[in-house]
Amino acid sequence: MKALVLTGKKQLEIQNTEMPEPKANEVVINAKYAGICGTDYALYNGLPGSADAVPPIVLGHENSGVISAVGSDVTDLKVGDRVTVDPNIYCGKCDYCRTARPELCDNLSAVGVTRNGGLEEYFTAPTQVVYKLPDNVDLKSAATCEPISCAVHGMDLLNIKPYQKALVIGDGYMGLIFAQLLRSYGVKEVDLTGRHDDKLAAEKEKLNIDRVINTTKEEIPAEYDVVIEAVGQPATQEQAIEATVKGAQVLMFGVGAPDQKFSMNTYEVFKKQLTIQGAFINPNSFEDAIALLQSGKVNVEKIIDNIISLEDVESVLNGTSNLTGKCVVKVSD
Ligand SMILES: [Zn+2]
Ligand SMILES: [Zn+2]
Repeated sequence: MKALVLTGKKQLEIQNTEMPEPKANEVVINAKYAGICGTDYALYNGLPGSADAVPPIVLGHENSGVISAVGSDVTDLKVGDRVTVDPNIYCGKCDYCRTARPELCDNLSAVGVTRNGGLEEYFTAPTQVVYKLPDNVDLKSAATCEPISCAVHGMDLLNIKPYQKALVIGDGYMGLIFAQLLRSYGVKEVDLTGRHDDKLAAEKEKLNIDRVINTTKEEIPAEYDVVIEAVGQPATQEQAIEATVKGAQVLMFGVGAPDQKFSMNTYEVFKKQLTIQGAFINPNSFEDAIALLQSGKVNVEKIIDNIISLEDVESVLNGTSNLTGKCVVKVSD
């Protein structure tokens, strides 16, 4: 079978590999689609994702497919089931796991990071992280349950109320998921920043955004109760703090470089009684992600920009491709 193997730092290779065998509690999944995100970019460049990836390894932590074999102890899933996989596997034994914060697990392993993921025709996963899909959720959309679930976790960490006015900083893929989540969670107003008028105008229309702000030519007003930073750069992190009103919550969701810093006026944090919240991965939020797709409250068809092949992945990750926006790989027919 065909697999896209990360063989070293900045080295991807299409290889013909053996079909995997499931352990007793595992299933084999015929991968159909796999999303590419910033984590894959980091892993390709030798940086950690949610955990370290040790080559040779097959990436593809955002994935969907159809079960093709089940292990001897599997009773709740069967061959032919359409599924998606929550990549993150918690140890269940460390202090964090035992205090209801499994996302902070000291022994995190992950499908597509520490074990082979969906960028190969067949991969395995333990049943506890495999989720059956409702009939009306297509496999392409389902491949992006993981990023939706990470955004849901971020929302879970905030205290969202109907009176709030919300701003999403950054109109990349995650920003556009957050804009849809804020709308469906019922805040009063959802605004969005970006850097291109035509892109922003299209997003305003298709995602029912109240106001779009092009930060290359407009100041962001300081009038938001909830600000989601979905870029991960010092300049936008500063914008996020400055866009707040008293009592506001700022979700620092965008992932910066490990050594990156931004400057912040701590007097403002005191005077406005700000909450600044981080969010790491996606504990217990996969069912919500699937439900949001099922109900149509999150629509990723509108925001997936490119369907690519396994052969195209390296050019996307090394920046030589001219594709922009979210890429989803069609792994097999
Ligand atoms: Zn991802
Ligand atoms: Zn643990």
